[in-house]
Amino acid sequence: MNDTELSETVHDVVIVGSGVAGLSAAVYAARADLEPIVLEGPEPGGQLTLTTEVENYLGFPEGVGGMELIQRGKEQAQRFGAEFVHGAVERAALEERPFALELSNGDTLETQALIVATGASARWVGAENEDELMGYGLSTCATCDGAFHRGDDVLVIGGGDSAMEEALFLAKFADSVTVVHRRDELRASDIMARRARDHDQIEFRWNTELLEIHGSRDDGVTGATLVSHPDGRPKEKLDSGEDVEHEDVDVGGIFYGVGHVPNTTFLEDTAVDLDDEGYLQTLEGMTTETAVDGVFGAGDVMDPDYRQAVTAAGTGSMAALDAESWLEEQAVESEAAVAVEADD
Ligand code: NAP
Repeated sequence: MNDTELSETVHDVVIVGSGVAGLSAAVYAARADLEPIVLEGPEPGGQLTLTTEVENYLGFPEGVGGMELIQRGKEQAQRFGAEFVHGAVERAALEERPFALELSNGDTLETQALIVATGASARWVGAENEDELMGYGLSTCATCDGAFHRGDDVLVIGGGDSAMEEALFLAKFADSVTVVHRRDELRASDIMARRARDHDQIEFRWNTELLEIHGSRDDGVTGATLVSHPDGRPKEKLDSGEDVEHEDVDVGGIFYGVGHVPNTTFLEDTAVDLDDEGYLQTLEGMTTETAVDGVFGAGDVMDPDYRQAVTAAGTGSMAALDAESWLEEQAVESEAAVAVEADD
């Protein structure tokens, strides 16, 4: 479809997001002849494209590369007729059907059913200079940028599985990796925590946070100011005037591994329910339906708990099946309405 046809057609289903949830929804919707349009936003392929090896996706006993899994999923969806279009949704008008999706390039897409599979993006910590240095020695993706830090001393911020994974990956390149965690207890799973703790090149700085990043776009990251307090969460204590220790360290790279925020800004002014953290809320029970009839949620955007590739694929397939049933119900209702009108 060219741009004009895309804008002039009322689509059966548009899937926003091309990560594992969006792809799984696309395979199911395409096989149901719904000719889905998949919108690939600013991070095409989603979080899996930033992962090296996926060891826990069913059916790959030797593991599979994240990028490979996504590419295969895209080919699978295309084989059944799903169409992929670049574009981020700026605004969604969901008060009337067909729904209208305004894209950042100015185009508008109309659709009867909408599957939101926009996932979540890396969270930033709010350190001084992070806007300036993101991409210049500061990164949210060790697998993307780790190889630039051969022989460097690097910091990893965070205490969850992402931070452990980043630290373990970086230890292949960096001279030393220091995990900076704001408390004295990791949130990471036992297995990941053990792997990181047992690694010779990985050290931990407990009860410590990153206050400021030193460097410039020309020189990259050259150091950082860390703050610590024996009771943890030192930045909060700074604000309340408590005695917090400051230390400057020389480092060549800093990696954030502090979790993710759901990509739901475009839904804020709609009747789709979002929780306090912005996660899309589906209705009670095992369904992907939302508070707006015809809008369905799938993957990390609606899942603050499991956040696994395999669960995202599962909810993606559910969203497509739910959308298909809903579209069939709409068709039956409109046929009945036409029959009543004809009788009158
Ligand atoms: P997470 O579990 O939410 O952990 C985020 C970590 O960052 C926490 O330790 C948190 O500290 C810290 N943090 C959050 N905001 C911060 C801030 N502003 N400043 C400093 N520290 C901050 O997120 P995640 O590690 O991305 O994991 C998310 C999910 O994906 C989990 O279910 C995880 O199991 C899964 N996952 C699995 C793997 C794997 O198995 N290989 C890899 C990656 C992710 P507090 O602990 O103090 O809250």
